[in-house]
Amino acid sequence: MASIRQFVRRFLERPGSIDLAPFERIVRAAGAEEDRLRKAAELPSPSMDDLAGFCAVAREAADRALGLRPYDVQLVGALVMLSGNVAEMATGEGKTLSGAVAAAGYALRGRRVHVVSVNDYLARRDAEWMGPLYEALGVSVGWIGEASTPEERRAAYDRDVTYGSVSEIGFDVLRDRLRVDAADLLLPEPDVVLVDEADSVLVDEARVPLVLAGAADAGGAVPETAALVRRLVKGYHYEIDDQARNVHLTSKGIDTVEEALGVELYHDTARLTEVNLALHAHALLTRDVDYIVRDGRVHLVNPSRGRVALLQRWPDGLQAAVEAKEALAPSETGEILDSITVQGLITRYPGRCGMTGTAVAVGDELREFYDLKVAVVPPNRPPVRADEPDRLFEFAADRDRALVDEIAEAHATGRPILVGTLDVAESERLALNLAGRGLECAVLNAKNDAEEASIIARAGERGAITVSTQMAGRGTDIRLGEGVGALGGLYVIGSGRHASSRLDDQLRGRAGRQGDPGGSVFLVSGEDDLITHYVADEYSSGVPSARLVAHAQRVAEGVNAQIHRNTWRYTRLLERQRDLVLERRDRVLRGRTAGEALAAAAPERWTGLTGALPPETGEEILHGAARQIVLFHLDRCWAEHLAYLAELREGIHLRVLGRASPIDEFHKDAVAAYRRLLAEVESRSVATFESAGITEDGLDLDGEGLKRPTATWTYLVQENPFGSEWERLTNRLATKIRRR
Ligand code: ADP
Ligand code: MG
Repeated sequence: MASIRQFVRRFLERPGSIDLAPFERIVRAAGAEEDRLRKAAELPSPSMDDLAGFCAVAREAADRALGLRPYDVQLVGALVMLSGNVAEMATGEGKTLSGAVAAAGYALRGRRVHVVSVNDYLARRDAEWMGPLYEALGVSVGWIGEASTPEERRAAYDRDVTYGSVSEIGFDVLRDRLRVDAADLLLPEPDVVLVDEADSVLVDEARVPLVLAGAADAGGAVPETAALVRRLVKGYHYEIDDQARNVHLTSKGIDTVEEALGVELYHDTARLTEVNLALHAHALLTRDVDYIVRDGRVHLVNPSRGRVALLQRWPDGLQAAVEAKEALAPSETGEILDSITVQGLITRYPGRCGMTGTAVAVGDELREFYDLKVAVVPPNRPPVRADEPDRLFEFAADRDRALVDEIAEAHATGRPILVGTLDVAESERLALNLAGRGLECAVLNAKNDAEEASIIARAGERGAITVSTQMAGRGTDIRLGEGVGALGGLYVIGSGRHASSRLDDQLRGRAGRQGDPGGSVFLVSGEDDLITHYVADEYSSGVPSARLVAHAQRVAEGVNAQIHRNTWRYTRLLERQRDLVLERRDRVLRGRTAGEALAAAAPERWTGLTGALPPETGEEILHGAARQIVLFHLDRCWAEHLAYLAELREGIHLRVLGRASPIDEFHKDAVAAYRRLLAEVESRSVATFESAGITEDGLDLDGEGLKRPTATWTYLVQENPFGSEWERLTNRLATKIRRR
């Protein structure tokens, strides 16, 4: 049944099937008003009941305010977004302007818009660049960045349109969830979100949790375990699954570890987890690919953007294991107070839309997880980029040589070259190889977004060689320098195919913008991870065929979508519980529910206190104290609940080994735990209310020993490995059981 429905959906409502004709009609009608508006000394304020009129005014306003006259296709893109869809528009088509017209349209309808950019640099650039247009349309605009103060943030969120990166907005949401005074809340109710580089944010980063933590202590790194696993031999002591997602000890490995540690792993789950984490860090995470070490710290590399992801870390145990592997001092860890995934963050907004160069490829996911449809907006000028077929090699070493030769040859003609590599280490290797041939190149691996943008902006100059890890979401377009068009325009060379053809397209799309000439080619070897991880061994030897490469990409994409789906099944329940808790919290924060509940639960205490307090202010003081008490326990219990669920999730596969479905089992326990949570908040609140000193000065929570965390900090957790953790545990147990 499900598969038939899927089949019908695929063919009848193919993603990208949104009909552009109605939007094109509106834009044509807008064209008819062009002359009249051009002569107008002052622009009329547009009415959103007349979309053609709005487009005409927006076009004229952009021309006057920015010196950019939106092309028809840019207005079509804006209308696609204004109707709540994702516009697929190629790199360099001018999505910033399209998005601003759409955001202004929403604002003129009385909606409040958050424009989500991929980083702080772009949020500010776009808000400032589009500022005059918004002003001309009578719409206020602001932006936030990592360095913004609370006052600046409040001011920015007060505007009709606010630009910000997904993490900055997300962290503000998390911090708002712990306010104890309604006047301190920064964010308004979520209304409309417009997501730039929508595939990158909504699909590649959908699972990334943003975390707010408090009450620090040093992480428990385990250097001995790290040293132990370093001695283990792959294939003998441990094995890695085909897709390099899981590693597990063989029986030989178990013996060796048990002997070295003098424990029975089977009976010592803490040790077992520790060994598994160390092994994961040792065997699956590679320095300079998954992370780099700089200034004595581990910095994660974002796998979809190939750049250093500041503020990101793995879940605590794994972070500590990697730090131990690299013999670094453990970084601080703390109790998680709350967290939200990018997906959870975006789906809070009742209105959603977005834009990107590559959306159709993730059309199914956008529909499934965000209820978004995709419309393909044609380019302003027909593309003439020449995409050559892949060049295929059996061995990586041959490909690497051919890559340098190809660069040298094209460079000799003066043609600018952009090389896309798959990871940071490869970029650096290539730069060395090129230097060996006397060729200089600029290497991008993202330390500074602004600096990087200026390097990219120069990548189209005659003779430029730019080496970059994945280009998705980089947000700066490459203009051709003098005379470069005659040389064939920008030449994009990929040093291997990505795990998704969408990322290949993002790279290719850097050449041939706005009808420029340009070219692209990918050099693929049979030793590339894509082939070795996603193609069965019997097919993966020799020179790979184009079909095999395409097949490997489809498998990789399927695996990623499945992981997304699995994680979502576990987090959905948690998100729902969180919504319920937050709803209660909000009522407590803004109203008198806490006081009413405590008055009902402890009427004698309430009356007693009322008598002891001054009659004019007594009631207010009591309600204020009740609010503080309930918020404290609610937040406390929620953090405990989160910790419990994390543990539950980690252990569930052990408990249900060979029995009920783990997800059902998890749900049953999680629901029961939620009920306990509510009861616990109530009983703890009543107990505090009964015993705490409440005077004319109110309640001194700290004095009662009820301290809120003094410091909080935020970070992103990358690639939640719990899913594979369970598999590792079960695999490992299966091995153990087989052996007995
Ligand atoms: P995208 O985000 O789609 O890759 P950008 O918004 O970064 O593209 O814009 C790419 C370039 O195109 C910018 O330099 C911008 O100034 C230019 N541009 C955008 N719209 C127009 C227009 N209507 N006319 C001329 N130039 C434009
Ligand atoms: Mg852009």
